[in-house]
Amino acid sequence: MFAPAAIWAALQSAVLEPFSPGSAYGAPAVVGALAISALYYAERRRARGRRMSPSGFARSIFPKRILLHPSSLVDMRLWLLNGVAFASAYGMLGLGLIFWRDEVVAGLNHAWGTRAPAPWPAWTILALATVLQLLASELAYWFAHYCFHKIPALWEFHKVHHSAEVMTTLTELRQHPVEIIAFMNLIGLSTGIVFGVMTYVFGPGVRPFTLLNGNIFLMAFLVTYGHLRHTHMWIPFTGFAGRILQSPAHHQLHHSANPVHYDRNLGFALAVWDCAFGTLAIPARTREPVVFGLGAETPPFRSALAALIIPCARVGGRIGSLAERLATERKLRAARKGSLA
Ligand SMILES: [Zn+2]
Ligand SMILES: [Zn+2]
Repeated sequence: MFAPAAIWAALQSAVLEPFSPGSAYGAPAVVGALAISALYYAERRRARGRRMSPSGFARSIFPKRILLHPSSLVDMRLWLLNGVAFASAYGMLGLGLIFWRDEVVAGLNHAWGTRAPAPWPAWTILALATVLQLLASELAYWFAHYCFHKIPALWEFHKVHHSAEVMTTLTELRQHPVEIIAFMNLIGLSTGIVFGVMTYVFGPGVRPFTLLNGNIFLMAFLVTYGHLRHTHMWIPFTGFAGRILQSPAHHQLHHSANPVHYDRNLGFALAVWDCAFGTLAIPARTREPVVFGLGAETPPFRSALAALIIPCARVGGRIGSLAERLATERKLRAARKGSLA
């Protein structure tokens, strides 16, 4: 293909990838989010004894003050800029999974020799792969998210996501490319290990139960309430359900500027790893007063370009001052040795 045409085709597929049926902004996920939003709107109007109308519903899910907020405008611009980063990250996830699966199979064959596939019924292998893939991908997500909160240099990148002062479904993609690439690679590694071990034990062709080409659980999350975690709709899961699943309210607490909520609810669809590692905050049944954003820590990014460049500059600055400190310490040690000699 003529080079500019090939570049144009690649860009087009990168921009359109997020809208494919199994993706975050594909028709099933958008329709699912709208359906749950409609139920939420109807329930709130009923509870207050108010009338319902299509225009009232539209205003309730897309309030002007949120949609036109400077924070929301940055989300939209970042979403356009990140189209390419996300498409390549999805590619990395697929390639990473296959790469690590094959590496694990080769390693196990080398260590313990080839073995005959275990004769388990097909549906049990499918069920096991479904659950293990979900747990592994959620564990990698939790771990990556934990590191991006706790390691100062990584937090500089993750601040872009947490600097949102209002939330719309587009806030999901308000991320720095460094973060997108790190998360996808870690998920590729963890799920690759699962499929590698399972391929070694059960033979080639191990796969999970799927919906729209993805793990059935993750896709079910995506096409129902997954998008509502970045909205102002307070939909909490409490009690046992709140220990297993991340509800929209779980993630809204994650975005809270209140220090009691810092570093809580780091999972994606599941709350089990937060529960296991002590980072879970179960939301209250009734709306908690949550202010989104970074609080006084850093002024919010007011342009998409600033959101992309400032974290790199700050990390560069941190690396520079660390190198300077190490060089000074080295000089002091050398001087001390010199005076002792
Ligand atoms: Zn976070
Ligand atoms: Zn978020």
